[in-house]
Amino acid sequence: MIVVKTREEIELMREAALVVSKTLGEVAKAVKPGVTTLELDKIAEECIRDQDAIPGFLGLYDFPNTLCMSPNSQVVHGIPNNTPLVEGDIISIDCGAIKHGFYGDHAYTFPVGEIATETEKLLQVTKESLYVGIREFKVGNRVGDVGYAIQKYCEDHGYGVVRELVGHGLGRTMHEDPEMPNYGKRGRGKKFIEGQVVAIEPMINLGTHRIKQHRDGWTITTQDNKPSAHFEHDVAIVDGKPELLSTFAYIYDALGIESDEENEFRQKELVL
Ligand code: MG
Ligand code: MG
Repeated sequence: MIVVKTREEIELMREAALVVSKTLGEVAKAVKPGVTTLELDKIAEECIRDQDAIPGFLGLYDFPNTLCMSPNSQVVHGIPNNTPLVEGDIISIDCGAIKHGFYGDHAYTFPVGEIATETEKLLQVTKESLYVGIREFKVGNRVGDVGYAIQKYCEDHGYGVVRELVGHGLGRTMHEDPEMPNYGKRGRGKKFIEGQVVAIEPMINLGTHRIKQHRDGWTITTQDNKPSAHFEHDVAIVDGKPELLSTFAYIYDALGIESDEENEFRQKELVL
């Protein structure tokens, strides 16, 4: 069952989405060779609590930390540890928080120093595919339209689209209906409706789409050990159109990146 949100609830969800956006911006400042993922996790937990919010992943399904930290061939759900990042790594960081009783859920894959050209391209295309998907999240379309758009865009670049993990509805619980696969068929699946909020999150592999689950019960890696990228935004349908609740602006500010990629999905100006 899709839980529709009122305008007021969507504004509260925007605040939750901005908590995780700001947190990833703080984390972005510290992503460099030598830092450990546990150190980044601490930064995130403090930043979330400083915003009068609660880490959303900590304890959820018994997850032990604030951030999911998935380097290189890890797809998602990696657990922070004491291994320092090294030049040339990529690190997918997924952040959840609860504010006003609503979840924010947001992810970005960071390069650590200089990375291989083919990996850089994977990050760029995966992020582009996120917007290609968001563009289809509107009244009149269906779940399959978003999945189809993301899958086509990524497969046209020769990449593998992970099947086992999907985006989801978002609200007072972390995972609401509907599931939002990053693959699918046009015109199939549930219809989108006004006031619906989802997390769209392509998980895209440089090589095969196949994955393996590790014995810790959490970590998931690509079967061929090639890199995997993950970008995630929280999006509502307002006046029939996609309205972005999260933002990469804090990350771009930290990294000195200029971008207007989010503008088409915002009906009012972003105030940071
Ligand atoms: Mg997430
Ligand atoms: Mg999610």
